[in-house]
Amino acid sequence: MELTFPPRVRLANLPTPLQPLDRITEKFSTPFGGPRLWVKRDDLTESAMSGNKLRKLEFIAGEARERGCDTLITCGGIQSNHCRTTALVGARLGFRVQLILRGEVAGPVDGNLLVDELAGASTACYPVRQYFAELPQLFEHWKDFYDQRGHRALCIPTGASDGLGIWGYIAGAAELMDDCRKAGFDPEHIVCASGSGGTQAGLTLGCQLQGSRARVTGYAVCDSAEYFQRKVREDVRDWSQRSGNRIDEKLLDVSVNADYIGPGYAVADEPVYRTIADAAAEEGLLLDPVYTGKAFHGLLQELRRGRYRDCENLVFVHTGGQFGLFPHREHFSFLM
Ligand SMILES: *Cc1c(COP(=O)(O)O)cnc(C)c1O
Repeated sequence: MELTFPPRVRLANLPTPLQPLDRITEKFSTPFGGPRLWVKRDDLTESAMSGNKLRKLEFIAGEARERGCDTLITCGGIQSNHCRTTALVGARLGFRVQLILRGEVAGPVDGNLLVDELAGASTACYPVRQYFAELPQLFEHWKDFYDQRGHRALCIPTGASDGLGIWGYIAGAAELMDDCRKAGFDPEHIVCASGSGGTQAGLTLGCQLQGSRARVTGYAVCDSAEYFQRKVREDVRDWSQRSGNRIDEKLLDVSVNADYIGPGYAVADEPVYRTIADAAAEEGLLLDPVYTGKAFHGLLQELRRGRYRDCENLVFVHTGGQFGLFPHREHFSFLM
């Protein structure tokens, strides 16, 4: 299918590198063999704006410009990578940014929230229960607030995961297939962390549109397998309606692993922190406890169990999140 991409503001340094993880591959190969592991370094899309959200925000920013907006409103947890990236994109492109944040600030301003403040974003924090109960009204409230002051605001959903944002990973899937071709292999599996589902949706759809055999699996960091099954299809349907591209939804192979969520969103057990330390020490790769560390830890457990033993090449998409590591510093006492 020939795709016509919507307006896009180039912000990410693309293509990001595709690198082999040979020390970890060797450590996790089983008596039955196992795949060569690769990492797609989307933690390197930019420096401060790093991570997967930047790919989606290129298209969101394109839409904001097209609509003549001067303000971006979005939402997330206190340590949201998506909010931090949006705050910096706003600063770079000259949009005001209003963040609707979930939870209270405990202790010193740290990690992503510190960057939000440095970038000059306006932040409003809400108790967790109110946030979940009233999110649409909170968006409405802040949109009215800016409208009444003569601004024009674009509301960006959680994680920029909708039919517009997933263009970022439709393009990302094409880029990844090209990387693999250049490296001389055709991957059987692609793995990413799933939080709001848009990365998985874009990669899954992108691989299908490319005619790739690669199976994309999202390792859930919250919610449930059913939630992501539904959310990925919803984002794809939204994409289809907005873009006018028809897609046979029945052909969409949505694969979710929800076995490694652990105690809950942004809460991890010690084995996840140990995997983060191992990845840093063995491969020089910095993972985070909310998304990439949890997903990568889950992937390693599945490798050990032989789930991917018939596969030759598996690509883990490193979606970023390094700033979210630092507020978890007390969990690394086992290193001292
Ligand atoms: C948001 C995020 C994810 C999850 O991506 P979704 O598209 O929201 O599912 C994964 N990793 C990092 C570091 C993130 O910030």
